[in-house]
Amino acid sequence: MTAEHSLETRLVHAGSDPQKQHGYVNPPIHRASTVLYEDVAAMDASQADPLKRSMPVYGRFGTPTGRAFEAALTDLEGGHDAVATCSGLAAITTAILSFVRAGDHILVSDSVYLPTRRFCDSLAGLGVETEYYDPRADKDIVDLLRPHTRLVYLESPGSTTFEVQDVPAVTSVCRAHEVVTVIDNTWATPAFHRPLELGADVVVHSATKYLTGHADSILGAIVCTEDTFAAVRGTAIRLGQCAGADDVYMGLRGLRTLGVRLWQHQRQAVGLASWVREQNGVRSVLYPALPGDPGHDLWRRDFTGAAGLFGLELEPGTGRSAVDALLGEVRLFGLGHSYGGYESLIVPADPVTHRLPGTWAGRGPLLRIHAGFEALDDLKEDLARGFDALAAHLP
Ligand SMILES: *Cc1c(COP(=O)(O)O)cnc(C)c1O
Repeated sequence: MTAEHSLETRLVHAGSDPQKQHGYVNPPIHRASTVLYEDVAAMDASQADPLKRSMPVYGRFGTPTGRAFEAALTDLEGGHDAVATCSGLAAITTAILSFVRAGDHILVSDSVYLPTRRFCDSLAGLGVETEYYDPRADKDIVDLLRPHTRLVYLESPGSTTFEVQDVPAVTSVCRAHEVVTVIDNTWATPAFHRPLELGADVVVHSATKYLTGHADSILGAIVCTEDTFAAVRGTAIRLGQCAGADDVYMGLRGLRTLGVRLWQHQRQAVGLASWVREQNGVRSVLYPALPGDPGHDLWRRDFTGAAGLFGLELEPGTGRSAVDALLGEVRLFGLGHSYGGYESLIVPADPVTHRLPGTWAGRGPLLRIHAGFEALDDLKEDLARGFDALAAHLP
């Protein structure tokens, strides 16, 4: 298996070496704290490795199961190495803390996942200034760089509002100014978007979502270039960051079917989103895969597919009771946060309370839908009942 193999092949085989595990296809789950050394020389050698990578030392520094997950994700993203973390948010906070110091300024897309924003706001207490920028920024991001700007954070498409960022434009400006770029690739996964190939330095994932894919674990990962890996790995060690044995196994297992799952999520979401766009009470659908979406051209240029998560904006003036009536009528769509499992979900997702003025032009309430694997006709029928309930509340 080499990097020349196609994505489908690499999803199946990346990070896998059955002959190292008695021929079994999958690696064992190592539940581990203590690691016993063969002799004093081996103990000394293990202590000399600052990144705790070359030999097992202690469970917190990782296990062979975790290394297999990290190796697979590294291969798929085209990175140098990766670090598994206990959650997606831990991947984000660890990546950011690897680069910022008191006195630094960071630029963060205004459409980031809300807990990412809350963390960045908290950095003020450590003397790091966060400034939010319009996710539509391109090479003009250069106007926002200051002499002490250390990091630019991207997430594409953005959480809840789905703006596609011009990743190559932003990363090329940052590279020229020696500013580190970190990007959240949870939505697209490496199956559909490889930001390191577009100039990003660090990719973060909530593996909780599509990578694991079955709504049964919490896991994160940070994939790095050669230049950024030592800093990230060192920070993860200092923070005590590590992933649970079972979770990291679930992440690796999920990768093996990531391609087939995402292609089916895409088929389902395209079918559902095009239908939703025609329903009464819907002002717009936020899904870059649909022609006419503001991010469609950038998505076509930089992505090879779209995930199963999209937004819909109801007509301006739609009241809370109408939204609740819609949500109260659906049965197949679970009312729940997160996404990336096999099941369909719907949640209200209103960004207006925290966004910068002007970067979110929408006016109606937003809902977020995850298209799972139920039959598309059943999903439409279920949502149609919701839209009927909504219509009863419209003027
Ligand atoms: C869910 C999510 C996270 C956080 O992941 P956890 O595994 O829940 O900590 C980060 N970024 C994005 C885009 C997400 O959707």
